[in-house]
Amino acid sequence: MELIGTLTELAKASGCADLAGCRSIVQAAAEEQRSLIYSVLDSKLVDETVFLKGVSRWLEIPWWSEPIIGVPGPLREKVPAKTALRYHVLPLQEDEDGISIAFYDPFDLLARQALASSLHQRIIYVMSTRTQIVKALRQGYGVGAETFEAILEGRSEEELGLDAEQETNVLDLDDSEASVVKFVNQILREALEQRATDIHIEPLQDDLQIRYRIDGVLHDVPVPPNIKVLQASVISRLKIMAQLDIAERRLPQDGRINLELDGQAIDVRVATIPSVTGESISLRLLGQEKFTFDRLGLDKQLQLRIRQLLALPNGIVLVTGPTGCGKSTTLYTFLSSLNTKERRIVTVEDPVEYKLSGVIQIAVKPEINLTFATGLRSILRGDPNVIMVGEMRDRETAEIAIRGALTGHLVFSTLHTNDAIGGITRLVDMGIERFLVANSVRAFIAQRLVRVLCPRCKRPAQHLKDYLKEIGFPLEHASNVMAAAGCDQCRHTGFEGRAAIFEICLVTPRLQDMVTQGSQEAVLHATAIDDGMIPLRHHGWSKVIAGITTVEEVVRVTAADLEMVDE
Ligand SMILES: [Zn+2]
Repeated sequence: MELIGTLTELAKASGCADLAGCRSIVQAAAEEQRSLIYSVLDSKLVDETVFLKGVSRWLEIPWWSEPIIGVPGPLREKVPAKTALRYHVLPLQEDEDGISIAFYDPFDLLARQALASSLHQRIIYVMSTRTQIVKALRQGYGVGAETFEAILEGRSEEELGLDAEQETNVLDLDDSEASVVKFVNQILREALEQRATDIHIEPLQDDLQIRYRIDGVLHDVPVPPNIKVLQASVISRLKIMAQLDIAERRLPQDGRINLELDGQAIDVRVATIPSVTGESISLRLLGQEKFTFDRLGLDKQLQLRIRQLLALPNGIVLVTGPTGCGKSTTLYTFLSSLNTKERRIVTVEDPVEYKLSGVIQIAVKPEINLTFATGLRSILRGDPNVIMVGEMRDRETAEIAIRGALTGHLVFSTLHTNDAIGGITRLVDMGIERFLVANSVRAFIAQRLVRVLCPRCKRPAQHLKDYLKEIGFPLEHASNVMAAAGCDQCRHTGFEGRAAIFEICLVTPRLQDMVTQGSQEAVLHATAIDDGMIPLRHHGWSKVIAGITTVEEVVRVTAADLEMVDE
């Protein structure tokens, strides 16, 4: 009883407002013989650092206030992953006095016993926060290290024989048996928890590299040393999950995995690439995303323009920009807002990235001659209201889309060009008649993604006025410019998430005439601005002034010499 009382007192001292609630949580944990410290921390009622410092003072266990960076190599062998990760104990350093071990639950006697029986040295216990210990354990031992060690010990050799029949693909099944299956699941789970959009598993000469793409940027995933020995098993396991041919290692293959985590379905697109150092595998994680206008981050004026476009009964709306600039998200947002019972929406995509309920989605299959053009032609026979074509790559597709627009359909598609006006030139270059472009396309929307500043660590930027002037930033707003710093919350990148910037060129009657007459791009551009188009970079500045992103981000994505690959 005294223990519960003291812990409740310490919780009170560390900001807990709901003392009765805290007391009953601790009491319940005690009755069920669960960890009392865990129960308080999990309740999120206290400030973790203040509470644990209180515990350390009470029990007179020293507090470790220096930064913790990973685990020194020799200590990783003395305290193996299975002990460290199971009990959340972190070896810090070794000297003549003994081995220093950081923990945050001094009441975990099993942890102390496990350490005492494997280390035949004096152990000096210190306390630190759970956040810091868990993070350092992940850094020091690598994702899935405990499982990995068990596999190496051969505890579950029979499970290495991978069985496609026992397929569940449910990540939160807590399979206590260590196996490659569990190891792969840990990699997937970790990726989802970190909001990764892609996982790349890449064999190097003498290592296996795993990287996550988070907010558009690749991050190395800490993995256990010697992971190379599991390379073949990990890749085979993923190929089985994606129902690929595991014997085929020389040709690229594509597949899908339908995962489930916490009851939520996650669609994963899998691609294998045979490289000279071995077969690599890339996974794209497609959550069940919500496509809302809020998410696009449009200001009122742009939102109004887009809503007007979406209300049109017919015509073409083209979204332009390089690969990975968020064009699909924008198109799915448009389709979602039009997705009502009165409208029949059909798409032809390569591939279908998100499944929209109520929308008929067709994936192109060139091997059976189902291309954008043939798919679109058959869609038009099926009486749709709204059509989305993944990309206008060729004249045939563009011509059918134009015919669709001219016969009363609203058509959405994308073009691989830099800016909005560039879309006009691209269509003309494809061989489309100028007057057809002028009379069928209602708008060209150019788009880019900028990284969003981490709200916790962003700080005022120190830019030279000359530089801001040179890049065209409005100097009167110079004091609003923020810069990236970096903190624990944003993986020391200074950024968290991404936002879109747009350039919307409505094809006004004036522009229609000019396009038909064959005016130069520069003239079209000037006219579009005159008619209300806000250039991409200027829209970017508004995001800088609002403290959402940095000057560098906007310059990076709107640089004139964008590496555009023109097919
Ligand atoms: Zn931060």
